[in-house]
Amino acid sequence: MYLLDVYVTNASLNINRTFTYLSDYEVKRGVRVDVLFNNKKTMAFVYNVSFIEKSKEELESECGYKLNYILNVVDEKPIISEDLLELSLWLSKVTISPFISCLNVMLPKTLKIRHEYIKSRKETRIKKHDNADISMTKRQLEVYDELEDCMLYGDALKISPSIIKKLLDYGVIEKYEEDIKYNETVVDKTSFNKLNKEQSMAYEGIISSDKYVNLLYGVMGSGKTEVYLHLTRYYLTLNKQVLILVPEISLTPQMIKRVKQRFNNVAIYHSYLNDNEKYYEYNRVKNREVDVVVGTRSAVFLPFSNLGIIIIDEEHDHSYKQDNVPCYNAKMVAFKRAKDFDAKVVLASATPTLETYSRALRGDYGLFKLNNRINNTLPEIEVIDLQDEVKKGGSYIISEDLKNEIRNVLNSNEQSIIILNRRGYSPVIKCADCGSVLMCNDCDTPLNYHKDENIMKCHICSRTYKVPAMCPRCGSKKLLHYGFGTKRVVEYLEELFPDARIGRMDADSTSTKNGHEMILESFERHEIDILVGTQMISKGLDYPLVTLVGILNADSGLLHSDYNSTESTFDLLMQSSGRSGRSVKNGKVIIQAFNPEHYVVEAVKRQDYELFFNTEMNLRKKAMYPPYAHMIALYLKDSNLKRLEDSIIILDKLTDNTEFKKYRPMMLNRISGFSRYRILIKGKDLAKMLIEINNVVEKYLNNKNVSVIKVDVNPLYLE
Ligand code: ADP
Ligand code: ZN
Ligand code: ZN
Repeated sequence: MYLLDVYVTNASLNINRTFTYLSDYEVKRGVRVDVLFNNKKTMAFVYNVSFIEKSKEELESECGYKLNYILNVVDEKPIISEDLLELSLWLSKVTISPFISCLNVMLPKTLKIRHEYIKSRKETRIKKHDNADISMTKRQLEVYDELEDCMLYGDALKISPSIIKKLLDYGVIEKYEEDIKYNETVVDKTSFNKLNKEQSMAYEGIISSDKYVNLLYGVMGSGKTEVYLHLTRYYLTLNKQVLILVPEISLTPQMIKRVKQRFNNVAIYHSYLNDNEKYYEYNRVKNREVDVVVGTRSAVFLPFSNLGIIIIDEEHDHSYKQDNVPCYNAKMVAFKRAKDFDAKVVLASATPTLETYSRALRGDYGLFKLNNRINNTLPEIEVIDLQDEVKKGGSYIISEDLKNEIRNVLNSNEQSIIILNRRGYSPVIKCADCGSVLMCNDCDTPLNYHKDENIMKCHICSRTYKVPAMCPRCGSKKLLHYGFGTKRVVEYLEELFPDARIGRMDADSTSTKNGHEMILESFERHEIDILVGTQMISKGLDYPLVTLVGILNADSGLLHSDYNSTESTFDLLMQSSGRSGRSVKNGKVIIQAFNPEHYVVEAVKRQDYELFFNTEMNLRKKAMYPPYAHMIALYLKDSNLKRLEDSIIILDKLTDNTEFKKYRPMMLNRISGFSRYRILIKGKDLAKMLIEINNVVEKYLNNKNVSVIKVDVNPLYLE
């Protein structure tokens, strides 16, 4: 008799363990089977197989309960390799999330769902018909004219899918299938720039470094990408695979273009691919038909067999952290995979995270710097004090100086970008006279204003406060909470510049990904003079005609209560100021802030990362925030509030440990009939914290009504 230990595939921490089923015939570890679970046919993953010379009856009388046979086997072959299986186990421990959810995040959907294996070795291509006499829009005609016979899911990705669809509908292009041709990776040697001195030192240094992890810290435009490309070439000559992780594909088209220009055979892996495309790229990597991969965070799980280097571009970017289950950080996974392959990791950024830079300074990571820009220009940065502006009778939306600059730019037929900082925006209460913000006495973080209850609440310790009648610092009675959205900015600009063409881009204005592309494309064609948007437009954009960037509410993020809001605001401001004057023309950046003397604003003005780093590290040390401590947040929910609160009391006790700092559990809100609670734990020893919390989850939460929404280890945001 074969005993199978299986994980059922509906993931939840409450049933994050194996169940035993029987089989008369041998079943391989790593395949899926159908079983009856709670009387329902359910798919399950076979985790362990053992053979025992006993009958069903003997086994049942030994264990004391009824055992069931599996219903049938789903897969012929294991769906995952041994090393990725080990990786999912590890991931489930370090993220405290269900093993099945970790398994799922590693596999393209086609492998996850019940699906006949795609046996076809064909790819879908598109080709043109000559008779383009149908009345197309100008844009469609342009795309049609430029289009060549190409792979639909690879090359044509740059073009908006809606246009492709239209062209297919018109019948001016056609889809066809062709056997996949595999190319050797050829390197286009002619297009490589000769590295300058700093770049060569970094390049040589990384190759010969004795550290797994290396930081390439280089100001914007210092030639980091060129170093990645040289490193890629080097590891290819060693017959190794190269993974380049990027924040968001749709925002980094230039990076893909550059990699593809140098290497002919590149896999692109990101969340906008459809299931077949993912499956296709997954297999190309698995079969070693491609050795260079550019991808977003989930590409870190691809089935590499001989990885040489993982390069993480813009390593400070928050998109490397997934904020739903499993809440993994791709950087952490990259470190693990590099260790397993004895490969290297390069973390690259102009504004490394505090954690990364402090580790590099401590010598945990190799540190390589590029201090100089290739074209040696810095944008001119002006900071506007909004408090002064308002006192002078000006507007706190668009200041007088910004207005004049926009006019100049319009007159010289160039373009402006106006970024409204909504990062971490939440209402706080602020004194109109002295500018101070009301803070929590215990946590030294700004209090959030809750309008419906007319109270202020601390986001960390959940203590509530009454709104005072006057400012505790200067006694003024003018306490206000301020805020405005992109829509208001656009209206305001339309009043000021009735003839200008103004575009808006934020999560509300454009619900689809194509919407974003469309707006950016028309901005690129200069059909828009002023583009207004949220932080969404702050990265990766590179338009030569943009000579002015205005940042509104630049310091609003600094008032937010998440401990790392200063860090993300600094990144945002540095990134945004890098958008201006990217080509020959000199750029100007205008930063509007209520607290221009804040060290974040000051550091951006001076383009001084070290200034920011040193100041912020001191504050983090005092408050014992990361990187000086680790945090784990547990989110729980139940439809029954009383039951949830009883569990919270028990859990609160169970997670008590003198080494950890505990915050009072926080009632978050009720959504669709569920109450939600958060437990937040801070400590120095992450390994210990993980063991402890994993234990609690295993012992207490198995088969309880209260369910864990998620556990977030080292969260970037608190909910
Ligand atoms: P970063 O990634 O640090 O922002 P890039 O690699 O994009 O910088 O380099 C900025 C610009 O300088 C690019 O246009 C790039 O082609 C060019 N460049 C980089 N390195 C060199 C070099 N060694 N020689 C000439 N041009 C270079
Ligand atoms: Zn005041
Ligand atoms: Zn507090």
